[in-house]
Amino acid sequence: MNATLNHRRVDVTSENEKYTPKPQKQWSMSNSVEYVLREQRFVFVLVGVAITTAFFLFLQPEFGSGQRTMDVSSYTAVQAYNFDESYQTTRTFETAPYKSHRSAIVSLGGKIPLGLPRKPLRIVVTGGAGFVGSHLVDRLIERGDSVIVVDNFFTGRKENVQHHFGNPRFELIRHDVVEPLLLEVDQIYHLACPASPVHYKFNPIKTIKTNVVGTLNMLGLAKRIGARFLLTSTSEVYGDPLEHPQKETYWGNVNPIGVRSCYDEGKRTAETLAMDYHRGADVQVRIARIFNTYGPRMCIDDGRVVSNFVAQALRKEPMTVYGDGKQTRSFQFVSDLVEGLMKLMEGEHVGPFNLGNPGEFTMLELAQVVKDVIDPTATIEYKENTSDDPHKRKPDISKAKELLGWEPKISLRKGLPMMVEDFRKRIFGDHKDKGSV
Ligand code: NAD
Ligand code: UDP
Repeated sequence: MNATLNHRRVDVTSENEKYTPKPQKQWSMSNSVEYVLREQRFVFVLVGVAITTAFFLFLQPEFGSGQRTMDVSSYTAVQAYNFDESYQTTRTFETAPYKSHRSAIVSLGGKIPLGLPRKPLRIVVTGGAGFVGSHLVDRLIERGDSVIVVDNFFTGRKENVQHHFGNPRFELIRHDVVEPLLLEVDQIYHLACPASPVHYKFNPIKTIKTNVVGTLNMLGLAKRIGARFLLTSTSEVYGDPLEHPQKETYWGNVNPIGVRSCYDEGKRTAETLAMDYHRGADVQVRIARIFNTYGPRMCIDDGRVVSNFVAQALRKEPMTVYGDGKQTRSFQFVSDLVEGLMKLMEGEHVGPFNLGNPGEFTMLELAQVVKDVIDPTATIEYKENTSDDPHKRKPDISKAKELLGWEPKISLRKGLPMMVEDFRKRIFGDHKDKGSV
């Protein structure tokens, strides 16, 4: 048997030895053309060219949009709100974001981008279902990035982001930042924290935990994955300020044991943590000190002065002025803030940066603006003020102007009607309040 097998193997080898390779064909242009025509390859080439042309003609704007909207300053607040409006009124949830996206392209004049398209980013927004966070998410999605919202829905609402639910570039995770989390992203906008005094005083221990442990967890994540981290701090770090207006160099006048301390001291510690991770662990951090912000999607009953006055005037209730109403605040429209946050994140400067509108109003002056916009017959009711209420507040924004090229564009009188429109819809549904303007 073995012998037979050996014998056969020898036979095969001897066959192979007789093999002579084919002579090499000489390449020539006419041969190639003949081949292409004979095999009908030309038809396939034409079909390929047609598909590619169609692809670039019809789909290019979708891909180009990230680049086109990269310059955040080219996008005005009014446009921002109008996009949002367009899917509030005409949306089916799956298609609406894309509709608004297209309108963004139209409003930008359909210009062809000059530079190379920017690589879309993966971005986490903690607190992204809240008031500021949801507007930020709209802008990031509209810019072409992928966004993961992490929120425990303490003060945030799914309704604020549900117009993105059908979008493959959007994800929503119910998660409390006090617990660790592992995700792979390029940037982290850390907003998770209740912002209204009523909400942050509701459970002060939870508030300080969110600010300290929550920020620690998100900084740890940034360090681990090499992501850039932006902290939304607050003008409250200046406490009841002895310097006016407040510059970033001012260290503040904060009561460390008062009822607001869970928030004020919590945010001050969050800033400390951010700087220590920056200096000690080389994390790229950005710090924004946000001044009072208002706009559509604020919680109607969150106790903040603008939402209180607007809701009260619409419901024909007296506007509650705490104390003598002579304390001051500076109010910025939400789209101005979002533009500032994005410029800060994309820029080279750590901060801290004041982001606020320097227009300063007493609470009585604010009540007058609300009367002018909603109902000239609205009345005022004085109430006892809360403890540790800062007497005055006004940002010095020269640093943000100079280093970020940012300043707010929307005055209170221009921004308030946009918020009123949203509150009117949410309070009365489709019914208009007949008595109001
Ligand atoms: P908001 O209450 O509307 O939003 C906060 C969001 O964080 C909510 O969606 C809430 O559910 C979520 N959140 C709270 N605790 C959380 C936790 N432990 N884990 C996960 N999610 C949590 O407030 P906002 O006005 O949108 O403020 C956003 C950020 O901006 C806050 O960090 C706030 O301190 C800061 N800020 C806001 C203002 C302002 O005037 N709006 C001023 C200064 C600073
Ligand atoms: N305030 C008021 N009436 C209200 C709610 C608030 O007069 O119904 C005052 C409050 O005393 C404070 C200012 O408005 O001086 C701003 O309060 P808010 O809670 O909006 O924000 P804060 O800047 O205090 O965090």
